[in-house]
Amino acid sequence: MTDLLTGYAAPAQALPTPAGPRRVPFTRTHICDAARENAGRVLASGWVTSGPEVAAFEEEFAPVVGARHAVAVASCTAAIELALRGLRLPPESPVLVSTNTFCGAVGAIVHAGLRPHLVDIDEVTGMPSPETTAAAAQGLRGPRGLLVVHLAGYPADVAELAAAAGVGLENVVEDAAHALGTWVGDRPVGSISRATCFSFYATKNLAIGEGGMVTTDDDDLATYLASARLHGMSRDAWKRYLPGGGWRYDVEVDGMKANLTDLQAAIGRAQLAEFDRVQSHRHSVAEWYDAGLAGADRFTLPARPTTGRHAWHLYAIRVRPGAGPGRDALIGALAERGIGTSVHFIPVHHLTWYRSRCVAPLGGLRHADTVFDQTLSLPLDAVVSRADVDAVTSALLDLGGPS
Ligand SMILES: *Cc1c(COP(=O)(O)O)cnc(C)c1O
Repeated sequence: MTDLLTGYAAPAQALPTPAGPRRVPFTRTHICDAARENAGRVLASGWVTSGPEVAAFEEEFAPVVGARHAVAVASCTAAIELALRGLRLPPESPVLVSTNTFCGAVGAIVHAGLRPHLVDIDEVTGMPSPETTAAAAQGLRGPRGLLVVHLAGYPADVAELAAAAGVGLENVVEDAAHALGTWVGDRPVGSISRATCFSFYATKNLAIGEGGMVTTDDDDLATYLASARLHGMSRDAWKRYLPGGGWRYDVEVDGMKANLTDLQAAIGRAQLAEFDRVQSHRHSVAEWYDAGLAGADRFTLPARPTTGRHAWHLYAIRVRPGAGPGRDALIGALAERGIGTSVHFIPVHHLTWYRSRCVAPLGGLRHADTVFDQTLSLPLDAVVSRADVDAVTSALLDLGGPS
């Protein structure tokens, strides 16, 4: 196992380590040296919004995920909204989506003029199974969409879920916010469904700070997205202020303001060059946690896929009910020791605004409720060290109580 910390400068936002027990934040954003240099170059260049850096980032990104096209956008949320609009489903068509996902992904369905139908989950993976998906699709007639999330970076079997939902792959969009580096069987996530949406948010596996990407093999969809992300202006309108660019443009499609900037793209290009190194570190961290917590009956460790590849965006354990503190008490006790954790996710049906906008299946969403009460995500990022992981696992063994 390589120690990825070698060659990394300390992140600027890291707090000085006070004397006493080791403090481990839940996540830190690591921007590599080359990315900082790229950012400086763009800031000095006289062109900071969408331009040649974005085009280069797209060209470099697409082959990494095995897709023909990559279209850079402002966020994964915007990516999902635009990709769903690109499906051209009739207004208010149902879109099946896990209730155990980030709320913004479900908000994007609403903003695309479609109706989220929430799907319960399998308690082992935290994701919809073919059975829960079929249950949520029961009784649906006519055209519908499916938004598949690869939770924590665990590969979801997209084709199997689409079949269970009664949806053709042409009406499937993937939320790959956690899944850059995930493989489903022998294919990287990025070209399996009609459109795949990635996030470059500060905590994600490829961090820019903010940003997103849609990948697709569909030429027409790529053309639509490239225009819709910038007000629907004709595809290359961004060039109009560059030397040789023309000022005339047309607007032929419904657009929004969701372009990525050259400043972000320049950071992303350097982070992409580092990506394999970061991923191998994340895999090592998952192994350290597995080993450190192996004997602790109080905790259920995250499932490992039997095929494909996990991207290890999150390492989420479940705190089994029983002797010792429950999940919330454990979060508090860990925080007192300076260890940051998080919960992924508050199920969407627990959130006020979403309740009136989502349809829940007749059987309810009880597996999602069970997992929500027990789940706990441990520190995992590009720079968390073996000593950090040891501090977390020994605190957990110490605080977890008798099993
Ligand atoms: C982070 C996240 C998003 C949203 O990504 P942004 O780039 O912040 O818009 C969507 N879905 C999931 C599962 C996420 O974790």
